[in-house]
Amino acid sequence: MKIHEYQAKQLLKDAGVPIPTSLLAGSADEAVAHFDALGGGVAVVKAQVHAGGRGKGGGVKVVRSKQECKSEAERILANPLITPQTGPEGVTVKKLLVEQATDIAHEYYVAIVLDRASQLPVLMASTEGGMEIEEVAAKTPEKIIKTFIDPDRGLLPYQVRKIGYLLGLKNEQVKAAGPTLKGLAKVYLDKDCSLAEINPWVRTADGNMIALDAKMNFDDNALFRLKDIAELRDEAEEDPGELRAGQAGLSYVKLDGTIGCLVNGAGLAMSTMDIIKYHGGEPANFLDVGGGANAEQVTEAFRIILSDPTVKAVLVNIFGGIMKCDTIATAIMTAFKEVGVKVPLVCRLEGTNVELGRKMLSESGLPIITASDLTDAAKRVVEAA
Ligand code: ADP
Ligand code: MG
Repeated sequence: MKIHEYQAKQLLKDAGVPIPTSLLAGSADEAVAHFDALGGGVAVVKAQVHAGGRGKGGGVKVVRSKQECKSEAERILANPLITPQTGPEGVTVKKLLVEQATDIAHEYYVAIVLDRASQLPVLMASTEGGMEIEEVAAKTPEKIIKTFIDPDRGLLPYQVRKIGYLLGLKNEQVKAAGPTLKGLAKVYLDKDCSLAEINPWVRTADGNMIALDAKMNFDDNALFRLKDIAELRDEAEEDPGELRAGQAGLSYVKLDGTIGCLVNGAGLAMSTMDIIKYHGGEPANFLDVGGGANAEQVTEAFRIILSDPTVKAVLVNIFGGIMKCDTIATAIMTAFKEVGVKVPLVCRLEGTNVELGRKMLSESGLPIITASDLTDAAKRVVEAA
């Protein structure tokens, strides 16, 4: 689960991380009132959306007067915000953060993620903040400092000093950096983050170290025990299909291709996506209905796939184990009746009650393309799409 910048900053602030003063606005008028409340000098108006790269898309603007604040706020709220992370259609902005402008001397990067190889959280810091860290990692990996964190002990004082000095900070700034690094690690560990990032983390002209932007992702599997975090969810920012799937207990991830995939089991779903790509197609989604899905869940899975306008063909690839092939056949027939399947549908069934499932489908008179095996199914669906 992702959250907004203003929510992530509040969590950081609660953990002792210095952040600039800011106020949340839901309209341009409210933004202007906040501009006044912050002193009426210089402020930054920032679109609150889950996507990053807002600065590049015109979603972060320095404003120097009431008029400028009003016109920028109106512009951001009225137009879809397109950033390198949103796709060409952009996203609607509903809230703005009006923030005190900071006099920036240098922008740093700091983030914590889980390092699967060492099975530990790793803190990464760099003097190259503000810009895309992927580019820094690809072109100048030596500019990323890594420190592993013991999840039981947290980030230790010697590690804070080491990071500070490796970033080239002076003694005073190393001291000033302490609360941010410790606070970031505390939030990451206490709140079951999968990512906690501050970019940019800035050294100000007067020598303070402040978090200017914050991004956090949380492990969905931990939300049941983190009620305060679960409440920060903003469903309007999430893919509608992924949201519906979550409610129905299905694992669904929207992708960029044209072939809708309905599969049971994460491993089979992965290999289905691989074989579609191998035969020249692109999957429109990952969807695992799970081992024990019932007919209603499978029908809902169809509704989700078919409500995606980018889907040009559907591949049903089911290995009946706990779920029986006749259950799938029933669900396919229900989906045809209920949702009206208007794109080609290729079906590959194997396993428990396969004969019965196939018989039901062939007797239904529905225009289903049956495949003899996985390769055959992939070839047919790629052709159909
Ligand atoms: P994003 O990463 O989505 O583009 P940021 O919050 O990082 O959004 O803002 C982009 C850039 O805008 C920052 O790198 C920084 O240079 C500038 N910026 C953001 N907030 C402030 C602020 N409060 N004061 C001054 N500059 C800011
Ligand atoms: Mg940023």
